[in-house]
Amino acid sequence: MRAPEAAGQRVPKQEQQPASDEVTEVAPGVLRMQLPIQFTGLGHVNMYGLVDRHGLAVVDPGMPGRQSWRAVVAALRRAGFCVGDVHTVVITHSHPDHFGGAARLAREAGAAVVAHADFNVPWLGPAEPDVASLEDGDDIVGTTGMAVSDPGRLRVPWRAPGDAMRPPQLPRSVPGPVLKLAWRLGRRYLQAPTPTRLLTDGAAIRLADRDWFAVHTPGHTADHLCLYDPEHRLLLAGDHVLPTITPHVSGIGCGRDPLRQYLDALETVARLDVGLALPAHGHPFTDLSARTAQIARHHDERLDRLRQIGAADGALTVETFSHALFPPGQWGLMAESEVFAHLEHLRRAGSARARRQHGALVYDLAEEGDRP
Ligand SMILES: [Zn+2]
Ligand SMILES: [Zn+2]
Repeated sequence: MRAPEAAGQRVPKQEQQPASDEVTEVAPGVLRMQLPIQFTGLGHVNMYGLVDRHGLAVVDPGMPGRQSWRAVVAALRRAGFCVGDVHTVVITHSHPDHFGGAARLAREAGAAVVAHADFNVPWLGPAEPDVASLEDGDDIVGTTGMAVSDPGRLRVPWRAPGDAMRPPQLPRSVPGPVLKLAWRLGRRYLQAPTPTRLLTDGAAIRLADRDWFAVHTPGHTADHLCLYDPEHRLLLAGDHVLPTITPHVSGIGCGRDPLRQYLDALETVARLDVGLALPAHGHPFTDLSARTAQIARHHDERLDRLRQIGAADGALTVETFSHALFPPGQWGLMAESEVFAHLEHLRRAGSARARRQHGALVYDLAEEGDRP
């Protein structure tokens, strides 16, 4: 999932290119295969194969559904494998373009499923998330969860209780009853895999005949996992660091100050000795620390921009900030979630105050001395 882009930056990126049939050995025993996805503007997801004498582990086997399954089988075949050769499925995080194919692949191959210990697909849980918990916590915002207030509608912490949102990618013209049906079918379609091995930060796992170390990298999602191979200086980066697109930092589901968590996790991977970063979208790239610095700068600029908007216009809702920051085509859940993460970061740093106005959160970014 990518972050919405500010106006004037809509140049096609490598992450948006359609999936290629090519199988590339990007490092010893590490294959890059690509699967087609049509998801938040991305064109493909990289399915990496980690090969050993027993077969292979597969990282992020794409979207759910028959079409993607056929692409997984075809990609494995082009690489010289069949489904039964897959002994392990690794999931970098709980977005459908990464975990969607995992349940079926694990079932048909009899494979283990590896994910971070916090792996959780909140909207697929057996019970609906607790709406009331959104308001709990030590302060005005409370926990930054998301709740399904009724089928097809999402309740988010920054909006007024009656002001639920449609999930992204659903056209506004879809009537309510159709939306409810689609939501229920969608829940069934999106099968959440059950991990058989959970990794915590620093845990080692042997894949492709060497040890990889788990690096917990929250911010994009709470359960984001990178895997580090110090021997070959590789980092399976998932969506934590992408080559040209700025990964979405989620204000939903990441707990307190997701932007702080994300920036800290950027520093963590920048400190690793990495020769080649293997992102989930786009091409593998060499200069990881330069890329992490660039992404950190982007967030600094975004914080500055929010300060400017707030200084000019006073206390504003998250929606209003997001409308000032993004062009209309990108308004909606992801844009507001990203803005919410940035505003909460400012508030926790003491640079913003928040209160509820008619049920919605408003943020006041005026300097202390400028406040009336
Ligand atoms: Zn992704
Ligand atoms: Zn993602």
